[in-house]
Amino acid sequence: MRRWIKDPLAILAANPAEGAERGIVVEGGRIVELVGRGQEPAAPVDAVFDAGRHVALPGLVNTHHHFFQTLTRAHPDAINKELFPWLQALYPVWSRLTPDGFRLATRLALTELLMSGCTAASDHHYLFPDGLESAMDIQVEEATALGMRMTVTRGSMNLSVKDGGLPPDNVVQDEDTILADCERVLSRYHDTSEGGLIRVALAPCAPFTVTKRLMTDSVGLAERFDCRLHTHLGETHDEDAYCLEHYGCRPVEYLEEIGWMNERVWLAHGIHFNDDEVERLGRHRVGVSHCPTSNMVLASGQCRTKELEAMGAPVGLGVDGSASNDSSNLMEGVRHALMINRLTYGSGAVTHFDVLRWATEGSARCLGRDDIGAVAVGKQADLALYTLDELRFSGAGDPLAALVLCGAHKADRVMLAGEWKVEDGMPVGIDVERLRVEHGTAAKRFLEAL
Ligand SMILES: [Zn+2]
Repeated sequence: MRRWIKDPLAILAANPAEGAERGIVVEGGRIVELVGRGQEPAAPVDAVFDAGRHVALPGLVNTHHHFFQTLTRAHPDAINKELFPWLQALYPVWSRLTPDGFRLATRLALTELLMSGCTAASDHHYLFPDGLESAMDIQVEEATALGMRMTVTRGSMNLSVKDGGLPPDNVVQDEDTILADCERVLSRYHDTSEGGLIRVALAPCAPFTVTKRLMTDSVGLAERFDCRLHTHLGETHDEDAYCLEHYGCRPVEYLEEIGWMNERVWLAHGIHFNDDEVERLGRHRVGVSHCPTSNMVLASGQCRTKELEAMGAPVGLGVDGSASNDSSNLMEGVRHALMINRLTYGSGAVTHFDVLRWATEGSARCLGRDDIGAVAVGKQADLALYTLDELRFSGAGDPLAALVLCGAHKADRVMLAGEWKVEDGMPVGIDVERLRVEHGTAAKRFLEAL
């Protein structure tokens, strides 16, 4: 079916010079034509969607999250703490995670992301207490049921308190178990085809929760299966101190030592880098997932987005886990990125185009995908359409700037591979109220089990 998304209020096209003022035509799950000013589609269309009330963006791409944390938002033991004490307060709670709770957490986080305009998500899942061995299978089932693109990252932790790590002993697995499951998940689900919905990445959690051997062994597996590698790095000064004490070097030197300095890698946060490290990360095209909301909540610091990008590193956006965000709204993250980056770089140096680029093209590059993240002919037809009907937009001049500056937070329409997944602000086929009740009940039960 050829469908014309006609006459949007504004559209963020990859190359504005090509012109897409009269919208785009999608067919077979892809964008097949941009319709410029005064033009009509080149061939007859089967359906027309009047986008006269909508501002159109490429579907947003989320590069860092922890879905399970939706069960512990604003947790009283963790609020008002920085990363290490925050983690230490939450690990014992998280160790009680069950498959049913995890399934609802995944469903809720994916739905929440989708409703904010996100069409491709990644989740860094590193928690495998006894009984939750099928975590990756649960995530693939949920993403597939929703029809959402997802990079499932098989996370891991094998360095617990008894070995000098941060997490308690009952939430880690041994290295052989981890690598065997990584191989199983890659063999079963990793789909590198153009437009493929599910991809797998390997994601040892952080320098202070994973042994050096597991980091290096993960590289071999990633090369064998041609998948990406992800980890937390450079989030706090505590991490710098940990690396100096345990590995005798700073986090980026450690990354180099374990074979992670290459374009297969994207890092979560990437805040505390010096000039030399920024240059090295850029030269090796290591991606960085900037998580502005989480960084502000935990007072971790500001990612050096502009310098990293200037040096060649892909910069994407992530909401980060819902215990440090504490929501999963990527469009809100776009606004937060604008604000914190302006505080650092000045208001002329960071525009709404920069932050929207990070949330789309930049994020897609972090995930190693060139088939999504832009409105251009040949790309997947993944779109997020926002209306400007709420009071907060009334009086706005520039529609694209208004999305970011006035605070768009809810897409009216979301298209994924040419199919509508959100209509009139609601996800198609999902009973949102029921989901909220079921998830809320699971979270309550989870916390009461302590
Ligand atoms: Zn994280």
